[in-house]
Amino acid sequence: MSVADVLIRGGRVIDPANGVDAVCDIWIEAGRIAGIGAFEGNANETIDATDRVVCPGLIDMHVHLREPGQEWKEDIESGSRAAVAGGVTTMCCMPNTGPHIDHAGVALQIIARAQQVGLCNVHPIGAVTKNLDGKELTEMRELARAGCVAFSDDGMPIWHAGVMRKALEYASSFGFMVIQHAEEKELTGGGAINEGWVSTRLGVAGMPVEGEDSMIARDIMLARRVDARYHVAHISSRGAVDLVRAAQAEGLKVTTEAAPHHFALTEEEVLGFNADAKMSPPLRTEADRLAVIEGLRDGTIDVIATDHAPHHEDDKRCGLSCAAFGIVGLETMLPVSLQLARDGVLSMPDLLAKMTCNPARLLGLDSGTLSLGAAADIAIFDPDATWTVDRDALVSKGKNTPWHGKELTGQVTHTLKSGRIVYAEGAVRG
Ligand SMILES: [Zn+2]
Repeated sequence: MSVADVLIRGGRVIDPANGVDAVCDIWIEAGRIAGIGAFEGNANETIDATDRVVCPGLIDMHVHLREPGQEWKEDIESGSRAAVAGGVTTMCCMPNTGPHIDHAGVALQIIARAQQVGLCNVHPIGAVTKNLDGKELTEMRELARAGCVAFSDDGMPIWHAGVMRKALEYASSFGFMVIQHAEEKELTGGGAINEGWVSTRLGVAGMPVEGEDSMIARDIMLARRVDARYHVAHISSRGAVDLVRAAQAEGLKVTTEAAPHHFALTEEEVLGFNADAKMSPPLRTEADRLAVIEGLRDGTIDVIATDHAPHHEDDKRCGLSCAAFGIVGLETMLPVSLQLARDGVLSMPDLLAKMTCNPARLLGLDSGTLSLGAAADIAIFDPDATWTVDRDALVSKGKNTPWHGKELTGQVTHTLKSGRIVYAEGAVRG
């Protein structure tokens, strides 16, 4: 008779990486998955997962943790706490910190701090250019050796075609991808929201879709030339989805991710000058939203990632035009995304793959699976529980959410990190 450290009993276990979708038990020993099936024996701790889904801890490959440099907005500890409250056990953090993640020391410091906090795996994304100013490439290999898993200047586009070509060439030479924040600033500069009838009605400068689409079209040409790995961050427009789909049909190594707000909301959310619905790229039209959903359905879009961008009140309460871009997302990613399963766009396993094994595969991470012997990073959620988002109750320091006061369906009940229960029934532990 075996004794498990933790037993999760009777849940719907979904492990997309291994094609598992069955009501069964899962048990943990020494922080690792020891078995999936029917457990007989004793456990030191038992979680009753009846009517709940048990899946690999979610991976969010696009997060702004703000540390070092802007700890009043978020820090590695508060971001890790928000992550596990949302079922996320692995995050990739973008390099627009202060200092930027443009040299190995900053990457090492972030990894060490995240390990010290011990709630969530954190993998930095290294900068493509020094100071994120789009001119001179960073020492990419050194950043990779320090633990960076991809490269991006996110927040800023990699503007110059020549720099982009070199970055693609260099990163691909050791198998890494370049993640582009696609925004042609000559088209979008000064804009706050999508260019269209809403921007016209509000009298606010808009950001046309061509700002996103034209840069992706250029980048795909460059990626084709050097057969590079190119990843489009937070895809938001119909034209962009079409470009990526065509590139993939051609066999190019082009991938993309969508943020929940881009498939759940439209530009109409900013009617009323709601700065908590302002982000870049902006919320777009219903046709764009439906195109993103179609891209998720047909596999053009491999990954769901939040672009979690916490800001202080002062950065948001200064009028729509001057408010900072970005919203928080870690704690609402899962329930907002579950709507796709309820609507029949994706099966539950296919949906969860976009937040577990798919990003793991793109980034070469060993998380995102419930394979025997894997670290027991697990999310347990009630797919039918409803709750109302209260900005003041969010764990993140950032309260900038467009879902404040709205009811969402699907609630994380437990999160385990390496077999340790780090979130249970509404409270972060440790
Ligand atoms: Zn971005």
